[in-house]
Amino acid sequence: MKVGLLLIATNKYIQFLNPLVESADRYFCTNHEVTYYVHTNQNFEVNTYRDIVAIPVEHKPWPWMTLERYKHFSDSKEQLSEMDYLYYCDVDMLFVNTVGDEILGDRVATQHPGLFGTRGTPETDSRSLAYIAPHEPMQYFAGGFNGGTSKEYLKMASTISANIIKDYEKELIAVWHDESHMNRYFVDNPPTVILSPSYCYGESLNIPFERRLLALDKDHAAVRN
Ligand code: UDP
Repeated sequence: MKVGLLLIATNKYIQFLNPLVESADRYFCTNHEVTYYVHTNQNFEVNTYRDIVAIPVEHKPWPWMTLERYKHFSDSKEQLSEMDYLYYCDVDMLFVNTVGDEILGDRVATQHPGLFGTRGTPETDSRSLAYIAPHEPMQYFAGGFNGGTSKEYLKMASTISANIIKDYEKELIAVWHDESHMNRYFVDNPPTVILSPSYCYGESLNIPFERRLLALDKDHAAVRN
Protein backbone atom coordinates (compact mmCIF):
# COMPACT_ATOMS: atom_id res chain seq x y z
CA MET A 1 0.00 0.00 0.00
CA LYS A 2 1.02 3.61 -0.50
CA VAL A 3 0.81 5.35 2.86
CA GLY A 4 1.28 9.11 3.32
CA LEU A 5 2.35 10.47 6.69
CA LEU A 6 1.24 14.08 6.96
CA LEU A 7 3.42 16.37 9.06
CA ILE A 8 3.36 20.08 9.88
CA ALA A 9 6.55 21.73 11.06
CA THR A 10 6.76 25.50 10.85
CA ASN A 11 9.26 27.76 12.61
CA LYS A 12 10.77 26.11 15.69
CA TYR A 13 8.78 22.90 15.22
CA ILE A 14 11.23 21.99 12.45
CA GLN A 15 13.59 20.76 15.22
CA PHE A 16 11.24 17.80 15.80
CA LEU A 17 11.23 16.63 12.18
CA ASN A 18 14.46 14.64 12.01
CA PRO A 19 13.95 12.53 15.13
CA LEU A 20 10.33 11.86 14.17
CA VAL A 21 11.18 10.74 10.63
CA GLU A 22 14.04 8.56 11.89
CA SER A 23 11.66 6.87 14.30
CA ALA A 24 8.97 6.47 11.62
CA ASP A 25 11.53 4.93 9.26
CA ARG A 26 12.12 2.29 11.91
CA TYR A 27 8.59 1.65 13.18
CA PHE A 28 5.84 3.14 10.99
CA CYS A 29 4.22 0.92 8.35
CA THR A 30 7.54 -0.71 7.51
CA ASN A 31 5.91 -3.20 5.12
CA HIS A 32 4.36 -0.40 3.03
CA GLU A 33 5.55 2.30 0.66
CA VAL A 34 5.56 5.40 2.87
CA THR A 35 5.85 9.03 1.73
CA TYR A 36 6.36 11.85 4.24
CA TYR A 37 4.56 15.12 3.39
CA VAL A 38 6.14 17.97 5.33
CA HIS A 39 4.14 21.19 5.46
CA THR A 40 6.67 23.83 6.39
CA ASN A 41 8.09 27.31 5.89
CA GLN A 42 11.62 26.08 6.75
CA ASN A 43 14.47 24.48 4.82
CA PHE A 44 15.30 21.03 6.04
CA GLU A 45 17.50 18.06 5.32
CA VAL A 46 16.39 14.67 6.51
CA ASN A 47 18.09 11.32 6.11
CA THR A 48 15.47 8.79 5.15
CA TYR A 49 15.22 5.83 2.80
CA ARG A 50 11.69 6.90 1.94
CA ASP A 51 10.22 9.63 -0.25
CA ILE A 52 9.86 12.97 1.46
CA VAL A 53 7.92 15.85 -0.08
CA ALA A 54 8.03 19.45 1.16
CA ILE A 55 4.76 21.37 0.87
CA PRO A 56 5.36 25.10 1.44
CA VAL A 57 2.98 26.76 3.89
CA GLU A 58 3.01 30.14 5.53
CA HIS A 59 3.57 30.16 9.30
CA LYS A 60 0.82 31.74 11.39
CA PRO A 61 0.81 32.35 15.15
CA TRP A 62 -0.80 29.92 17.58
CA PRO A 63 -3.38 28.37 17.21
CA TRP A 64 -3.52 28.74 13.43
CA MET A 65 -0.98 26.06 12.49
CA THR A 66 -3.01 23.42 14.27
CA LEU A 67 -6.39 24.96 13.35
CA GLU A 68 -5.59 25.09 9.64
CA ARG A 69 -4.04 21.64 9.34
CA TYR A 70 -7.10 20.24 7.54
CA LYS A 71 -7.17 23.23 5.22
CA HIS A 72 -3.56 22.48 4.24
CA PHE A 73 -4.40 18.83 3.59
CA SER A 74 -7.45 19.83 1.54
CA ASP A 75 -5.35 22.30 -0.43
CA SER A 76 -3.03 19.46 -1.51
CA LYS A 77 -5.79 16.91 -2.05
CA GLU A 78 -4.84 16.14 -5.65
CA GLN A 79 -1.31 15.19 -4.66
CA LEU A 80 -2.40 13.37 -1.50
CA SER A 81 -5.09 11.32 -3.21
CA GLU A 82 -2.32 9.35 -4.94
CA MET A 83 -1.90 7.56 -1.60
CA ASP A 84 -4.05 4.60 -0.52
CA TYR A 85 -3.94 5.71 3.12
CA LEU A 86 -3.17 8.98 4.88
CA TYR A 87 -2.13 9.42 8.50
CA TYR A 88 -1.34 12.55 10.45
CA CYS A 89 0.81 12.83 13.54
CA ASP A 90 1.96 15.88 15.45
CA VAL A 91 5.58 16.49 14.60
CA ASP A 92 6.59 16.61 18.27
CA MET A 93 6.06 12.87 18.55
CA LEU A 94 8.27 9.80 18.38
CA PHE A 95 7.53 6.25 17.26
CA VAL A 96 8.99 3.89 19.87
CA ASN A 97 7.42 0.58 18.82
CA THR A 98 5.87 -0.97 15.73
CA VAL A 99 2.83 0.74 14.24
CA GLY A 100 1.63 -1.46 11.42
CA ASP A 101 -1.41 -2.93 9.72
CA GLU A 102 -3.57 -2.65 12.84
CA ILE A 103 -3.95 1.07 12.05
CA LEU A 104 -5.31 0.56 8.53
CA GLY A 105 -8.99 1.38 8.13
CA ASP A 106 -11.45 3.80 6.57
CA ARG A 107 -11.58 6.27 9.48
CA VAL A 108 -9.03 5.87 12.24
CA ALA A 109 -9.16 7.67 15.58
CA THR A 110 -7.03 7.47 18.72
CA GLN A 111 -8.34 7.54 22.28
CA HIS A 112 -7.01 10.56 24.15
CA PRO A 113 -4.25 9.55 26.61
CA GLY A 114 -5.61 11.70 29.43
CA LEU A 115 -9.33 11.32 28.75
CA PHE A 116 -9.77 7.79 27.39
CA GLY A 117 -13.08 6.13 28.13
CA THR A 118 -14.76 9.48 28.87
CA ARG A 119 -16.61 12.21 27.00
CA GLY A 120 -13.55 14.38 27.53
CA THR A 121 -13.83 18.06 26.74
CA PRO A 122 -16.06 18.53 23.67
CA GLU A 123 -17.16 21.98 22.49
CA THR A 124 -20.10 23.12 24.63
CA ASP A 125 -21.01 26.33 22.74
CA SER A 126 -24.01 25.39 20.61
CA ARG A 127 -23.21 28.20 18.14
CA SER A 128 -20.08 26.31 17.04
CA LEU A 129 -20.17 23.61 14.36
CA ALA A 130 -17.93 21.58 16.70
CA TYR A 131 -20.67 21.50 19.35
CA ILE A 132 -21.59 18.09 20.75
CA ALA A 133 -24.82 17.98 22.78
CA PRO A 134 -24.72 16.20 26.15
CA HIS A 135 -27.19 13.55 24.95
CA GLU A 136 -25.08 12.53 21.95
CA PRO A 137 -23.07 9.35 22.56
CA MET A 138 -19.33 9.94 22.16
CA GLN A 139 -15.87 9.18 23.44
CA TYR A 140 -13.04 11.66 23.27
CA PHE A 141 -10.31 11.29 20.65
CA ALA A 142 -6.89 12.93 20.46
CA GLY A 143 -5.99 15.17 17.55
CA GLY A 144 -2.34 14.03 17.63
CA PHE A 145 -2.76 10.87 15.54
CA ASN A 146 -5.49 9.94 13.09
CA GLY A 147 -5.92 8.72 9.56
CA GLY A 148 -7.77 6.52 7.14
CA THR A 149 -8.09 5.75 3.48
CA SER A 150 -7.09 8.79 1.48
CA LYS A 151 -10.67 9.10 0.20
CA GLU A 152 -12.17 9.15 3.71
CA TYR A 153 -9.37 11.23 5.20
CA LEU A 154 -9.63 13.94 2.55
CA LYS A 155 -13.42 13.98 2.97
CA MET A 156 -12.92 14.55 6.70
CA ALA A 157 -10.29 17.23 6.03
CA SER A 158 -12.59 19.11 3.69
CA THR A 159 -15.58 19.00 6.10
CA ILE A 160 -13.57 20.04 9.15
CA SER A 161 -11.76 22.78 7.29
CA ALA A 162 -15.07 24.22 6.00
CA ASN A 163 -16.59 24.07 9.50
CA ILE A 164 -13.61 25.86 11.04
CA ILE A 165 -13.91 28.62 8.44
CA LYS A 166 -17.67 28.94 9.01
CA ASP A 167 -17.10 29.17 12.76
CA TYR A 168 -14.45 31.83 12.32
CA GLU A 169 -16.80 33.89 10.17
CA LYS A 170 -18.91 34.05 13.35
CA GLU A 171 -15.75 34.87 15.34
CA LEU A 172 -15.78 31.43 16.95
CA ILE A 173 -12.78 29.18 17.58
CA ALA A 174 -13.67 25.86 19.20
CA VAL A 175 -12.27 25.13 22.64
CA TRP A 176 -9.67 22.59 21.47
CA HIS A 177 -9.35 23.99 17.96
CA ASP A 178 -9.21 21.32 15.23
CA GLU A 179 -9.47 18.56 17.87
CA SER A 180 -12.98 19.75 18.83
CA HIS A 181 -14.07 19.69 15.19
CA MET A 182 -12.50 16.26 14.68
CA ASN A 183 -14.47 14.94 17.65
CA ARG A 184 -17.68 16.34 16.15
CA TYR A 185 -16.82 14.71 12.84
CA PHE A 186 -16.35 11.33 14.54
CA VAL A 187 -19.77 11.63 16.21
CA ASP A 188 -21.31 12.03 12.73
CA ASN A 189 -18.94 9.59 10.99
CA PRO A 190 -17.85 7.03 13.57
CA PRO A 191 -14.30 5.73 13.27
CA THR A 192 -13.99 2.22 11.86
CA VAL A 193 -10.75 1.67 13.79
CA ILE A 194 -10.32 2.99 17.32
CA LEU A 195 -6.72 2.96 18.53
CA SER A 196 -5.81 2.90 22.20
CA PRO A 197 -3.80 5.72 23.83
CA SER A 198 -0.68 3.69 22.90
CA TYR A 199 -0.75 5.77 19.73
CA CYS A 200 -0.70 9.15 21.46
CA TYR A 201 1.06 8.27 24.72
CA GLY A 202 2.05 11.39 26.68
CA GLU A 203 5.79 11.02 27.34
CA SER A 204 5.58 11.55 31.09
CA LEU A 205 2.25 9.76 31.61
CA ASN A 206 1.98 6.41 33.29
CA ILE A 207 -1.12 4.76 31.87
CA PRO A 208 -1.85 1.07 31.37
CA PHE A 209 -1.01 0.92 27.65
CA GLU A 210 2.08 0.02 25.64
CA ARG A 211 4.11 2.95 24.38
CA ARG A 212 4.02 3.02 20.59
CA LEU A 213 3.76 6.66 19.55
CA LEU A 214 4.92 9.15 22.17
CA ALA A 215 3.63 12.73 22.41
CA LEU A 216 6.79 14.43 23.65
CA ASP A 217 6.83 16.80 26.60
CA LYS A 218 7.74 20.29 25.46
CA ASP A 219 7.93 23.87 26.61
CA HIS A 220 4.93 25.28 24.72
CA ALA A 221 5.93 28.91 25.19
CA ALA A 222 9.44 28.26 23.86
CA VAL A 223 8.39 26.49 20.65
CA ARG A 224 5.23 28.35 19.77
CA ASN A 225 6.48 31.94 19.73
N1 UDP B 1 2.68 23.36 14.69
C1 UDP B 1 3.66 23.93 13.91
N2 UDP B 1 4.07 25.21 14.18
C2 UDP B 1 3.57 25.92 15.22
C3 UDP B 1 2.57 25.34 16.02
C4 UDP B 1 2.14 24.05 15.74
O1 UDP B 1 4.18 23.32 12.97
O2 UDP B 1 4.03 27.07 15.45
C5 UDP B 1 2.18 22.01 14.35
C6 UDP B 1 3.12 20.89 14.81
O3 UDP B 1 3.00 19.81 13.93
C7 UDP B 1 2.53 20.53 16.16
C8 UDP B 1 1.03 20.63 15.86
O4 UDP B 1 0.92 21.77 14.99
O5 UDP B 1 2.91 19.23 16.56
C9 UDP B 1 0.15 20.83 17.08
O6 UDP B 1 0.65 21.88 17.89
P1 UDP B 1 1.19 21.59 19.36
O7 UDP B 1 2.00 20.32 19.36
O8 UDP B 1 1.89 22.81 19.85
O9 UDP B 1 -0.17 21.38 20.15
P2 UDP B 1 -0.43 20.44 21.40
O10 UDP B 1 -0.56 19.06 20.85
O11 UDP B 1 0.77 20.57 22.32
O12 UDP B 1 -1.70 20.99 21.97
